[in-house]
Amino acid sequence: MAEDLYESTLDWDAARPSTTIITCVDGRWYRHFQEFARDYLKAGARTDYLAVPGGIEPLTLMDLVPKDFNFFRRRLEALVAAHGTKRIVAIAHQDCAWYKDRKLGPVTINMRERQVADLRRAAAHLREMFPGVSVETYFAHLKNGTPPRVVFDAV
Ligand SMILES: [Zn+2]
Repeated sequence: MAEDLYESTLDWDAARPSTTIITCVDGRWYRHFQEFARDYLKAGARTDYLAVPGGIEPLTLMDLVPKDFNFFRRRLEALVAAHGTKRIVAIAHQDCAWYKDRKLGPVTINMRERQVADLRRAAAHLREMFPGVSVETYFAHLKNGTPPRVVFDAV
């Protein structure tokens, strides 16, 4: 039998977190999302995460790219059913590479406005899909300073 390569220093906790956070995968923002969830949302030290580049964006693609919408929806439905999720928190972030690369319409489009509109559309879908689950949406962005700070707005 192979030897264990590494043993985590953290105790295993089998209790399911009640909150699922839907975010982008960008590692620069991730620890800020985790701190926000723990210290502001009071979601506990652990939450479930559903992370893909661009975060909730697939949930806005029901008509445009239904296979992306369905991929995301099926996995989220399975997660909520298996884990008994009570709260879904969707967080978008400034300077998201996924949104930058997939700008639709005029080049002058305000990316933050687009992301906030997507958060709202996605939240409407989520509330329809999961009537018993509370849904919240936030936008994370930088505040000038040395070093810059990450701040969160409810949207
Ligand atoms: Zn991103």
